[in-house]
Amino acid sequence: MNTTLPGYVEVAVIGGGPAGAVAARMLAQLGVTVALLEAGQHHPLVGETLPPAVRPVLDRLGLRATVEAEGYLPSVGSWSAWGDAEPWGRDFIYSYFGHGWHLDRRRFDALLREAARAAGARLVTGASVMASAPLAGGGFSLALADGREITARIVLDASGRGASFARQRGVRRQTLDRMVALVGHVVRRAGADEEPAASLVEATAEGWWYSAPLPQDRLVVVFMTDSDIAREIGTSTEGWLDRLSAAPHTGARALRYGAGLAGPPVIVPAASGRLERFGDVDWLAIGDAAATRDPLSSEGILIAMESGLDAAEAAARALRGVRDALPAAAERREAGWREYLALHDQYYDMEQRWPDARFWQRRRSRTLQAAE
Ligand SMILES: Cc1cc2nc3c(=O)[nH]c(=O)nc-3n(C[C@H](O)[C@H](O)[C@H](O)COP(=O)(O)OP(=O)(O)OC[C@H]3O[C@@H](n4cnc5c(N)ncnc54)[C@H](O)[C@@H]3O)c2cc1C
Repeated sequence: MNTTLPGYVEVAVIGGGPAGAVAARMLAQLGVTVALLEAGQHHPLVGETLPPAVRPVLDRLGLRATVEAEGYLPSVGSWSAWGDAEPWGRDFIYSYFGHGWHLDRRRFDALLREAARAAGARLVTGASVMASAPLAGGGFSLALADGREITARIVLDASGRGASFARQRGVRRQTLDRMVALVGHVVRRAGADEEPAASLVEATAEGWWYSAPLPQDRLVVVFMTDSDIAREIGTSTEGWLDRLSAAPHTGARALRYGAGLAGPPVIVPAASGRLERFGDVDWLAIGDAAATRDPLSSEGILIAMESGLDAAEAAARALRGVRDALPAAAERREAGWREYLALHDQYYDMEQRWPDARFWQRRRSRTLQAAE
């Protein structure tokens, strides 16, 4: 739903993905005037598995029952042929929080935006923020692609890995790797057996695969590799299938499930990286705009939502005059990044089967590089 652009708000949130929508809902619930500006470009949406630990976040937002009523596929566990040819894993039946979900991402993101609007946020779709300028008395003016303008005391940059506002502020992005995803959707064959609603990860010499059933009779099958290796493969179905033959568990699953791909594989950026700093006294980057994590963690949506909640509370404190509220939230993002790096190293160290393969060698010697 389009709403008119207000001239001024206390907080402008750029980007209506999970981070921005959650921040906008929480800000509205805290009584702050907030605009949620969503460009609404039709880019491929990836990231479909919501871990069980999202439940407390949904509770804080008052959205647990709404999400449960959506009928997403329960995600009952996750299995990995990682460090070993045979898959090992865990059933969420033993998880404290119960099961997670395999989502229809477009529907889920739209649900969160609608929840922000219902709480009182001004949701403006088709609102692509192209430029920004600091105001003399504090805050920013934002210019949209269609020429409209809005001013705000505080800006939350939730624009995803493009981090458009932070980059306009001159903050550079640093990347840890050059990972991309080659995404295929297998269509379910009539009469195919029910596929266990669990995600499966499988390492190969040139990267790793993940697969998960989705609502509407699709199995998402994704090859995670580096951009140079992806260039050698290309985006032809034949090249993708050829690499799939190196992943016997994933290949067997795709064959059991369906007859073929809904279309040629789509290539999606998936590099881990971060902004060199996450914010200042009057702006903060959240979700993927602040830092992107290796999809192996399967936590991007959860972290985005948690950072949205945290940023909303920090912005409300900043508006009450607590000058270091947003810098303190930025410091919490720093701590999260340090934890992520430790986990990243721990997981990649577990896979030692291809010590000479370039994909795995690169993950043993990580350094942050300026983004290309
Ligand atoms: C291959 C792959 C698989 C993944 N799998 C999972 C998974 O299974 N589970 C999981 O939890 N996570 C997964 N992730 C990560 C997850 O998708 C992201 O972490 C999550 O989408 C981040 O949410 P966000 O709101 O920060 O950003 P986004 O979802 O990227 O949302 C940003 C929004 O900002 C808007 N926008 C951009 N620029 C502007 C602008 N200038 N003005 C206005 N609006 C703008 C965009 O249109 C978009 O709607 C995966 C990622 C990849 C690459």
